[in-house]
Formats: sequence, structure tokens, C-alpha cells
Amino acid sequence: MTRPAFIAPVPLPEAGLLGEHVFPLEKYGLVRAALEAAGDVSPGAWRIAPPATDDELRLVHTAEYLDDIASLRWTERTLHSELPLDALVVSLFRGFTGGTIAACRAAVAEGVGVNVGGGLHHAFADHAEGFCYFNDIAVGIRVLQREGAIERAAVIDCDVHQGNGTARIFAGDDSVFTFSIHQEHLYPEKQRSDLDVGLDDPIGDELYLRALDASLGVVFALGAPDFVVYQAGADPYAGDRLGNLGLSFADLAERDRRVLSACAERGIPCAVTLGGGYAADTDDTVAIHVATCRAAIAIAPALAARRAAQ
Ligand SMILES: [Zn+2]
Repeated sequence: MTRPAFIAPVPLPEAGLLGEHVFPLEKYGLVRAALEAAGDVSPGAWRIAPPATDDELRLVHTAEYLDDIASLRWTERTLHSELPLDALVVSLFRGFTGGTIAACRAAVAEGVGVNVGGGLHHAFADHAEGFCYFNDIAVGIRVLQREGAIERAAVIDCDVHQGNGTARIFAGDDSVFTFSIHQEHLYPEKQRSDLDVGLDDPIGDELYLRALDASLGVVFALGAPDFVVYQAGADPYAGDRLGNLGLSFADLAERDRRVLSACAERGIPCAVTLGGGYAADTDDTVAIHVATCRAAIAIAPALAARRAAQ
């Protein structure tokens, strides 16, 4: 049976690294442990991704910004980060970005790649924002385009926050279609994606899923992608501290199923990134991310079969 490639970015953040911070960095290790404990991913099946290189980061980020990061300098380009700027934190973000590059390459080769990390959609080409230093989604797409592995990509961003950095990076680039479905009245300051669906909060499951279905049709029709990156943020969840869309575990699992099935039906390879998740109980965030990984496992055979038939 065809299974997704599961990517483990390195280094793995340690619990307590940020002190009392709303961003639960320990979730990545907890997701890995939960997938192993349940037998979803055997310990030997993880693929360890090398951190993103300077050369890869330069495909998206400006030299001035990367120089600020390398020097750990607070400037107008780094000061919008809501995380510390130190060598360990930067190495984590290089790792997350390397994970997404590996997930993208694995998806093109095998159908589905899951980075247990990433989804850093608030990072712009020339500055940090929120909890994001590097835009791993954009770097992954640019690496594949440079390698000639893909021509047209779509970003399907279902985090509760708009994918503002991703939207700006690909603005005016017809080869990448950006779609974001998010809570409208919420951080960040919005940029224009190719398709934005800003939702009132809280929204019921029926309206959410109807909006998602309609949007997916538009993404595949207008974007005509041969590759998809899915940002599967866990923060549209009802128990999230930063968002108020009010979706349940079941709603989010259905969201994952619909996005990934839309790729599978069309035989389009998909890289999955985890994105945000700030539930009062970190176990809830972990459970949502684990369910996303299971949705990827569930659709991988159908996607492989569709690709084989094309
Ligand atoms: Zn978010």
C-alpha cells in the first residue's frame, strides 16, 4: 500500500524553549510520538530532512533580510517577528523549511509528502512576521520550479490566519495560485491572494465546508496546478486561543479529507505542512495535526493510483 513520505525536520524543538509562549514548539515532537505510538508511522519510516541552505532561502528571501537573520540583528526587517532571534530559533526555522523542501520533492516523486513542521505563511520575502522567519511554502515551490519538477503550483492555506506572506511573495506570478480561507477579522493585515475567503466568526461546519468546496473548484480551475502545497493549520479549532472560527475535530478532519481528496481525484501531488495551532490544551492541537497526517495516509493510495493511470 502506498504511504505518504513523512518528513521529520531537524533540529526537533525542545519543550520550554520559548518559556511561557502561546506557540507550543513542543507540539512537533508530540505529533511524531503520537503517530509512532498509534502505528501510523513506524520509527524507521521517518525521513530526516537537511535544513534549508542559503542558496535555497535566496530563491525567496532578499539578501538584506537573510543578512539580518545571519547576524541575529533586530532591524525593520526582523522586528515584526514575535519570536526570539537567536541561533537556536533560526536553526529551527531552517529545519522547518528544509522539511517542507523534502516534503515537496517527495510529493512529486511519490504523491504525498508530509512535513511534521512548517506552514510558515506569515514570512515575507524581505521581513519576518508573527511566528515566521522563512516562508517554507514559497521556498519549497521555488526549489521545485528551479529543478524543473513542476511548472504550476497552488497553495491551499486553511490556517485560521490569512497566508499574507505567501500571497505577497507570489503576487503577480501566474505560475503560483494562492488561496487562503481564514477568519476575516483577525491578525494579520491582509494581503491579496489569488483567492481569499475571509469568514465571519464563528462559522458553522456547513458554511465552512461549503465555502471550502466552492473554493477548491476555483483553485483547480483557475490555478490549473500540477502541484499543491496544503497548509493545514490547526487553529480554526473551537478551542484555539488565537482564532474564533469554532470548528470541531470532526470538521477539521473533514476539511483535510476534502482538500486531499481534491488533489487525489486529479492525480495532483501534494505536500502537507502543519501550520498554526494554539489550543488551550496542546493535546488538542496535536490531535488535529495527527488527524491531518492520517488523512494523508488515507488518500495516498488513491492519489498514487490516479497518477499511475494518467
Ligand atoms: Zn495561524
